[in-house]
Amino acid sequence: MPKNSNKLKFVFIMCFISLFSTISTVVFLSVIDAGTHQVVQKNYLAIGIFCIALLAACYCLSHLFVHRILQSFFGLFAFIHEVKETRDYSLRIKPKLGSGLAVVGRNINDMLESIHADSELNRMNARRLVAAQESMSRMSRYDTLTGLPNRKYFMETLERILAQSKRDNRDLALMFFDLDGFRRVNETYGHKTGDALLVEVANRARSLLRKGDIIARLGTDEFLILFYNDLHEVTVNEIAKRLATTLSQPYSIDSWQLEVTASIGITVASDSDFDIKELVSNADIALYHAKNSGPGNYIIFATHMKEEKNRRLDIANALGQAITENEFQLVYQAKVNRADEIVGYEALIRWNSKSLGFIPPDEFIQIAEQSGKISLITFWVLETLCKDMSTFISQHGSHIKLSFNLSALDLREAYLSNKIASLLEQYNVDGRNIEIEVTESVYLDNFDSSNIFFEDMAKLNCSIALDDFGTGYSSLGYLTQINIDTLKIDKQFVGHITESNKSKLVTKAIIEMGKQLGLEVCAEGVETVEQANLLKESGCHQLQGYLYSKPTPIDKLFS
Ligand code: C2E
Ligand code: MG
Ligand code: MG
Repeated sequence: MPKNSNKLKFVFIMCFISLFSTISTVVFLSVIDAGTHQVVQKNYLAIGIFCIALLAACYCLSHLFVHRILQSFFGLFAFIHEVKETRDYSLRIKPKLGSGLAVVGRNINDMLESIHADSELNRMNARRLVAAQESMSRMSRYDTLTGLPNRKYFMETLERILAQSKRDNRDLALMFFDLDGFRRVNETYGHKTGDALLVEVANRARSLLRKGDIIARLGTDEFLILFYNDLHEVTVNEIAKRLATTLSQPYSIDSWQLEVTASIGITVASDSDFDIKELVSNADIALYHAKNSGPGNYIIFATHMKEEKNRRLDIANALGQAITENEFQLVYQAKVNRADEIVGYEALIRWNSKSLGFIPPDEFIQIAEQSGKISLITFWVLETLCKDMSTFISQHGSHIKLSFNLSALDLREAYLSNKIASLLEQYNVDGRNIEIEVTESVYLDNFDSSNIFFEDMAKLNCSIALDDFGTGYSSLGYLTQINIDTLKIDKQFVGHITESNKSKLVTKAIIEMGKQLGLEVCAEGVETVEQANLLKESGCHQLQGYLYSKPTPIDKLFS
C-alpha cells in the first residue's frame, strides 16, 4: 500500500479514537453529574481501567470501521495509483469493494476497458505508421524493382564518399552502364520479362562487387557502380571486362533465352577533381562513346571526350534556329537503273550553320534525335522535297521517285503518318513518287510501330526502302515478316566488291536473296565502272553513287 494511504489510515484511526474518547468522557462526566461523584472519586483505579477499556474498545471499533469501510477506499486509491504509475490499462478492480464502491469500481473498469481498447488501437496505428514510415523512407532510397539504391540515395552517398576521398587523396572509379537494345526486349517480350531481365542484370552486377563498392539503378536500364576499393587502371579495366562478359551471358527468363549486352562508361574521380556533377557527367560521356562504338563495349573517359560533348551541345543549341534561319539545304543524288537511266533521287540534307560552319548529317542527325529536334527536320525535308517534286516530274516524267530518310525517333511520333499524308495533300504530290528510307535499326527498334506506319504508307502508295542493309543485324529472320519494297545494299559492301572476294560473294548473296523475296535491290556508294558492271551482272536493279552523281542542289541539277 502506498505511503499516502498509510498516512490516511492513521489519521482516520486517530480521528475515530479521539471521537470515541470524547464521547466516552462526555458520557462518563454526565454520570458523575448525575450523583455518582463520590463513588468515582474513591475508585480511581476502576475509572482508569474503564477509560483504558473504553480506549481499547474505541481503537477496536475504529480499526474495524477502517478495515471494513475504509479498506475499500484505500484499495481504490491504491488501484488508481497503480494504473497511473504503470499505465497498464488492462488492469481491473477486483470485485471485493463494498456495495457502494462496487458500482464505482465497475464504472472505473468500464472506463479502463475503453481506455485500454483506445490505447491498443493507438498502439496498432502507431506501429502501422512506423512501418509505413520505414517503407516510405526505404522507397525514397531504394529502387523497388531491383532493391538497389536509387539515384537520390546513390548521389547522397557518393557526395559523402567523394568529400572523404578528396581529403584522403584516394581515387575512386565510377562505372555507368546500360543495356543495348533494352527497349526492344520490352517491346518484343513484354514489360514483365523486361523487369525480370533488369532484376537478373542487377543481381549479376552485384555479384561482382567487393565490400564497400556500391551499385545503384538510375533509370530504366541505367546502372551506376562506385568502386571504392584499390584502384589501378588495370583493375578497372578488368572489372569492366568481367562485367561486360557476365552481363552478356544468356538469360533464361519466362522460358525465353534472352541475349543482351551492356555498354559501359568508366571514369575516375581525380579526372573531375572529385566534383560529383562532373564525375557523373564524365561517366556518362564515356558511356556515350561506348554506345557509339557498338554493343557490349566499355570505354574509359578521356578529356578530349569532354570537348566532343561541348561540340554536341553547341550543335544541339545551334539546331534550334537552323530552320528559322534558313540554314538547311537539300541536295539530291540520282539513282539509275541497269540501263543507266535516272529512276529516282535521294534527298540528303546539308547544314551550313552561321555559327559553326558546315556540319555533316552523320554528325548532326544523331544530335537532333537526342535533343528532340529530328521530327522538325524530317518534316522540313519532306516539305522541301514536295515543293521540288514538280521540277523533277517536269524533267524526268511522272514515274520519278524521290526518297527521303527517316530517323529512328520519327517513328515514335504518333502523328507521323498524318503529317506525311497532309503534306502530300497540301502540295498535291502523288504517293507513288515518294520512297521512304529507313535503316534496319530504325525499323527493328520500332518493329510494331514501323509495321503500322508501313501499312499507312502503303495506303498512300508510298514505297519503303531498307537503307544500309547488311550493317545492322545479323539475324535475317525479320525479313520474312516485313513489308518493304527495296533493299539498299550498304556502301561498305559495294566499296570492296572488286577487291575482296568475300565482299563480292556477300553482295551477290544479298542481291539474290532480295530478288527471291520479290524486292527491288539498290546498291549505294557505287564509285567505279567495275563495281557497276559487277552489280549489274549480279542482277542488281538500281545503282546510286558518285559514279553517277554527287548529291547536288536542285538549282545545279537542272541548270
Ligand atoms: P544514307 O541515307 O545511307 O546516304 C548515303 C550517304 O552516302 C550520303 O552521305 C551520300 O552522300 C553518301 N554517298 C553517296 N554516294 C556515295 C559514294 O559513291 N561514295 C561514298 N563514299 N559515299 C557516298 P551523307 O549525305 O553525308 O549522309 C549520311 C547519312 O546521313 C545518310 O546515309 C543518312 O543516314 C543521313 N541523312 C542524310 N540526310 C538525311 C535526312 O534528311 N534525314 C535523315 N534522318 N538522315 C539523313
Ligand atoms: Mg538513305
Ligand atoms: Mg545508306
